Amino acid sequence: MCGIVGYIGTQQACPILLKGLRRLEYRGYDSAGVSMISSTGELNVFKSKGKVDDLESFLEDKDVTGTIGIAHTRWATHGVPCRENAHPHFSSTGTLSLIHNGIIENYASIKERLKEKGYTFVSETDTEVLVQLIEYYKIKYNSDLLSAVQRALSQVIGAYAIAVLDKNNPDEIIAARKASPLAIGLGDGEYFLASDATPIVEYTKKLIYVEDNEIAIINRHSGVNIITIQGKEVSHEVSEVNLDLGAIEKGGYEHFMLKEIFEQPECLLNCMRGRINDEGTDIRFSSIIDYGQRFINARRLVIVACGTSWHAGLIGKSLIENFCRIPVEVAYASEFRYSNPVISEEDVVIAISQSGETADTLAAIELARSKGAFVYGIVNSVGSSIARNTHTGSYIHVGPEIGVASTKAFTGQVTVLSMLALCIAKERNTITQEQLQEALQELLRIPDKIREVLKQNDTIASLSRTFTYAHNFIYLGRGYNYPVALEGALKLKEISYIHAEGYPAAEMKHGPIALIDAEMPVVVVATNKALYEKILSNIQEIKARQGRVIAVVVKGDDTISKLVDYVIELPETVEFLYPLLASIPLQLLAYHIAVCKGKNVDQPRNLAKSVTVE
Ligand code: GLU
Repeated sequence: MCGIVGYIGTQQACPILLKGLRRLEYRGYDSAGVSMISSTGELNVFKSKGKVDDLESFLEDKDVTGTIGIAHTRWATHGVPCRENAHPHFSSTGTLSLIHNGIIENYASIKERLKEKGYTFVSETDTEVLVQLIEYYKIKYNSDLLSAVQRALSQVIGAYAIAVLDKNNPDEIIAARKASPLAIGLGDGEYFLASDATPIVEYTKKLIYVEDNEIAIINRHSGVNIITIQGKEVSHEVSEVNLDLGAIEKGGYEHFMLKEIFEQPECLLNCMRGRINDEGTDIRFSSIIDYGQRFINARRLVIVACGTSWHAGLIGKSLIENFCRIPVEVAYASEFRYSNPVISEEDVVIAISQSGETADTLAAIELARSKGAFVYGIVNSVGSSIARNTHTGSYIHVGPEIGVASTKAFTGQVTVLSMLALCIAKERNTITQEQLQEALQELLRIPDKIREVLKQNDTIASLSRTFTYAHNFIYLGRGYNYPVALEGALKLKEISYIHAEGYPAAEMKHGPIALIDAEMPVVVVATNKALYEKILSNIQEIKARQGRVIAVVVKGDDTISKLVDYVIELPETVEFLYPLLASIPLQLLAYHIAVCKGKNVDQPRNLAKSVTVE
């Protein structure tokens, strides 16, 4: 998510900072800002909504002098993208400025405490709370910036990479990290700071990677010193970085899509953070806290979405019907808007969209609202049109998705829908505390299990080569895995341009079986315990017609494994969570086939990331 840059040395900071922000643009962002201590000793903050180019135009008539500065590209998590919410943030007295990547989870309670002490806030962000808290401690204990940062960070729960400037000390930047990346570049009498090596490597190859719970004191004269939040000195090896810039922008991955597939364990942790407690005994969703009755009393739920989000919606239907016993319908937003749908005030409409700008979904929301329905949104982009036009909603918090074919947004949506179903079930008493706990604890284990699945990347890459010349593919799955089959087929179509169809496994014999011959690869998601024998028969039917089968099975399955041509194993989980594991190898399969075919994986022909037209 987003980027931070810092500089202290002998050169003018601003051009280096802006160049650094441009190098981090690939991470995705919605606003940008810089802060420098000027040659006359002023602490300046300049920021704007939009691109780094917009910020640069805004800076034209400003005092951008100074040899010390920090800069930020923001990807909103708390508060819409706008100038007030952009970073850097000032402290109340204007003596500190701070940039932050990540999320301060307990910001609301800290904010309340500070408000009681008379602090006021100009933004809606979690970040502004942190800079005010640092200033509060600095004044209260009459301390230096470092001690105040230590005190503040020991109060904070969440993820952060931060950098702070103090008007009264133009020779020092204080930076810190926990769960968000932070690198420091060691130049000759100058120091650089950034979210990754990209903005730094053209100045110096010597890098230190700050670790979790560490604070870096970067001083113009005495260099870089690193301590823990508790104040213990730590030493770090200096790494020599020799990376090609293009490669590191994608985090070392060949394509954004592959990077985003591999980010999923971390993304899903972010998605669950602050919602499921660490012990996995309870779940809280702010929309259910605020509007629980609307969901509890809903006559039915209607999910509207397009493309990949529609597939997530189909999984959502099974989840909500199974756990909450409320009827759910799933509609393509584009059809819903023109279908004269029967919608009333007793319905809750759930709109799902990664970008939050999908034109058809927006129109469906408008229609549902006009009929009196309560509308809940599941989106990734904070402050997007759908986030603003719904009554309430939940962000999936998976960070910007750059690859056009959605991967981490899909698993993020399914994770939110799983949590939503469990949360409503808890409120409606359709689940026991014991079942809830079991489900939550298993959900918390999913990121590690995805890591296990990702280890099969090389195996999937080599089996993909066999299928590069296929003209058609069939994907089969049952129950929760049927939408996974649809999504697997869609991924393949989108990026490799191979025709693919997803079917419920048992439907095959009602038509598609006619297509099966030795040329037809069939991907079968076969993790269902309850329907195991049935799926086994489906596979036998394919093999009897010489179809080539790639089976996704649960580790240790030696019956299906013996029968099929290729096997991909998943760690064991509970039935309703297999989609989160089974979709990973299908993403990798589509990716590697497209790479083998030499296709433009991140920007496939004819497709747009955010479909803002009808
Ligand atoms: N949570 C902060 C905000 O919404 C920082 C987001 C980021 O990492 O850019 O402003």
